[in-house]
Order: sequence, then C-alpha cells, then structure tokens
Amino acid sequence: MKCDLCSSKIQETFLNKMLGTQIKVSGKKKLVCFECQKKFPTKEALVKQLS
Ligand SMILES: [Zn+2]
Repeated sequence: MKCDLCSSKIQETFLNKMLGTQIKVSGKKKLVCFECQKKFPTKEALVKQLS
C-alpha cells in the first residue's frame, strides 16, 4: 500500500494494521501515511491536499 500524498510505502504492523489512515475524498478511499498526517493534522487540510 502506498500513500496517496507522497507515494511512500505504508508499512503494516504484525497485526496487519496499517500505519496510516484512510480517508474518503469525493467518494474515493485514499490512504495517507503517518508522516503526511503529521504534516496535515486536520482532515480538512488532508482532503484539500488530496483533491
Ligand atoms: Zn505520505
């Protein structure tokens, strides 16, 4: 899985839980890594970056 913002690989933990977050932007699921989450801490800012 890759981050939709910076295209870096998103790692999974041993429980297959991703170290990132999924958000919906205009009906599409987007993946954002932990680093990008730190850069854009609000959902509004992330959606703005992804749309
Ligand atoms: Zn990223």
